[in-house]
Amino acid sequence: MRLKGKTILITAAGQGMGRASAEACMREGAHVIATDINESALQTLKKDCPSIQTHLLDVMDAKAIKSFAEQMPNLDGLFNCAGFVHHGSVLDISDEDWEFSVNLNVTSMMRMCRAFLPGMMEQAKITGSSSVVNMASMASSIKGFPMRTAYGATKAAVIGLSKGIAADFVTQGIRCNSICPGTVNTPSLQGRISSAADPVQAQKDFIARQPMGRLAEVADITPLIVYLLSDESVYVTGQSLLVDGGVTI
Ligand code: NAD
Repeated sequence: MRLKGKTILITAAGQGMGRASAEACMREGAHVIATDINESALQTLKKDCPSIQTHLLDVMDAKAIKSFAEQMPNLDGLFNCAGFVHHGSVLDISDEDWEFSVNLNVTSMMRMCRAFLPGMMEQAKITGSSSVVNMASMASSIKGFPMRTAYGATKAAVIGLSKGIAADFVTQGIRCNSICPGTVNTPSLQGRISSAADPVQAQKDFIARQPMGRLAEVADITPLIVYLLSDESVYVTGQSLLVDGGVTI
């Protein structure tokens, strides 16, 4: 039980890596607070994992974040997972697209950290360490990919945000890291594949860029998240950790 006694809050926990992380943290003994904007996805999670506490939370709603944080206990762990993939080059990005990507992928994480960090610092006075994990991507400051300019820019900002928080609070028991997955087989990836002009070719193209010859599954990513939320990583902060199957070798 690597997370026994810890209270961990996860955003975008209705599906994909957020949901898989909620289940993995529960299996490791954490009290998990799973949030998402999708009520039916949360209901399914609750049905499958009754011990997980579920709450609707739109991370783009600044007021909702503030009032939600006021009702929550002090956290040991916060996993900011919510994010969106914009498809297109810089010539395709409207001002609205850009604002949406920045707001969902970066501003939401800044607001979550701002709202929950004071309680996490209180908790760290008791336990010694609280951990924030922010979802970045290999498509970021690490590597450029075609048609991922808005996405890569926001995920690079997530890496910078995480390093800044790590630097500011390193003496107050707060660790903050970001994770940078490769291409992970999740509902939204399947959506991107099926909305391509030629979905069969799109699936082949995604696999063709994987040195290991396959996409990542969520279970390839969750062990890193559990590690960063656990005390095993107590000396790790300010890092952006890749799990990309060798794409950036
Ligand atoms: P997903 O995209 O399939 O699911 C995302 C979840 O986010 C959904 O349950 C959705 O309801 C929720 N959500 C959307 N808007 C929200 C909002 N405003 N507030 C709260 N919840 C909201 O899941 P995924 O593919 O695992 O992606 C999760 C994160 O991982 C994202 O930040 C994504 O950018 C990142 N990521 C994904 C991949 C990949 O290949 N799938 C790779 C690297 C990073």
